Amino acid sequence: MAHVSPLRAALTDATEDGIFFDLAGIRRGYHTLRRELPGVDIRFALKSCPVDEVLGCLAGEGAGVDGASPHELEQALRAGVPAGRTHYGNTVKSDRDIAEAHRLGVRDFATDSIEDLAAIAAHAPGARVFCRLATSGDGALWGLSNKFGCSPADAVRILAAARGMGLTPSGLSVHVGSQQMTADAWHNAVDCLADVLTALGRRGIVLDHVNLGGGLPALGYLDRHGLPLEPPLDKIFAVIREGMRHLRKVHGEHLAFVMEPGRHLVADHGAVRAHVARLSERQRPDGERQHWLYLSCGKFNGLYEMDALQYPLVFPTHPDTGSGYVPAVLAGPTCDSDDAYPQGHALVHVPRDLASGDPVWVLSSGAYAISYTTQGFNGFAPLPYTCVGGGRP
Ligand SMILES: *Cc1c(COP(=O)(O)O)cnc(C)c1O
Repeated sequence: MAHVSPLRAALTDATEDGIFFDLAGIRRGYHTLRRELPGVDIRFALKSCPVDEVLGCLAGEGAGVDGASPHELEQALRAGVPAGRTHYGNTVKSDRDIAEAHRLGVRDFATDSIEDLAAIAAHAPGARVFCRLATSGDGALWGLSNKFGCSPADAVRILAAARGMGLTPSGLSVHVGSQQMTADAWHNAVDCLADVLTALGRRGIVLDHVNLGGGLPALGYLDRHGLPLEPPLDKIFAVIREGMRHLRKVHGEHLAFVMEPGRHLVADHGAVRAHVARLSERQRPDGERQHWLYLSCGKFNGLYEMDALQYPLVFPTHPDTGSGYVPAVLAGPTCDSDDAYPQGHALVHVPRDLASGDPVWVLSSGAYAISYTTQGFNGFAPLPYTCVGGGRP
């Protein structure tokens, strides 16, 4: 019998909607990443999949956690991640958040402003701080460029001020944008990091680590046109390895490296089992006739990121025969008109005779699905999740 992945098996067996995570796949992906980037400490960006079993699986393999709130950090500690392998990676935090994280034992904090730095000094005395540099976000599906990070000049100013506040200036970080599709983005980030490390060295400030952030792409997505995205992952890894060598040359061989992947570790190892609400055809005001495939799941219960990509779909009750398909707009079930593939997304080819209730598998939907799920927009409940592949091979 052909080998069936635990994810496929779970989707095949499912009779109700849900989201499935393949722990064996996540574990494999983690070790592949460790092999590709030797010497890089992996701290899982918890927001990409805040599921205890996923966290426990990664923690069990030695991964740390990038937490963005006291609640996330607490979840990480509960899963068995040592406090020393966590950091508070959010530059946005209230006095209370900082104090709470410090109370939990977290000693590493991201920052990007003097105001935040002073708050860390006051509420997490003696902490280690790393400064986040802004990046352009170019080449990423989600750029993250405006809200976070400071200029190189500010970074030098902030880390120089840290000492005087009783803090340890420990590192620099970047995030090149989520689902970053170009190796150039890491190349540019390394150049920027090298400049700041050099400037800091001139002032006698020696850091112990660089945090290269998240942004590593998932492999399974389709673009807006429905074509495979095919990110140049091998090239990205090569640029990162070369960048690490360069930064050590600039700042000292002692320099340690951290990365905070989220999406890359979980996206392709999660899938949604949804069902067809209705396939219908309507005439629009401009006279054009259009098919719409309304699924039981959409933007508000698992598939929020449909604004920037298409998911590979499988219609298991309709084996692909190449005929009897119609182009349709994909949409979720709620009364929000944003709950659909936006204009500019290519139509999806779907079996013409889909009936209400037919199962639909939405592949590569393991990242951010849980975090972006609403409490039950229009009464459409959050998807229950199931983890498979849990036993060690
Ligand atoms: C969201 C986030 C990540 C993870 O990003 P991915 O693109 O999912 O890898 C890492 N670090 C920080 C600070 C983040 O905010």
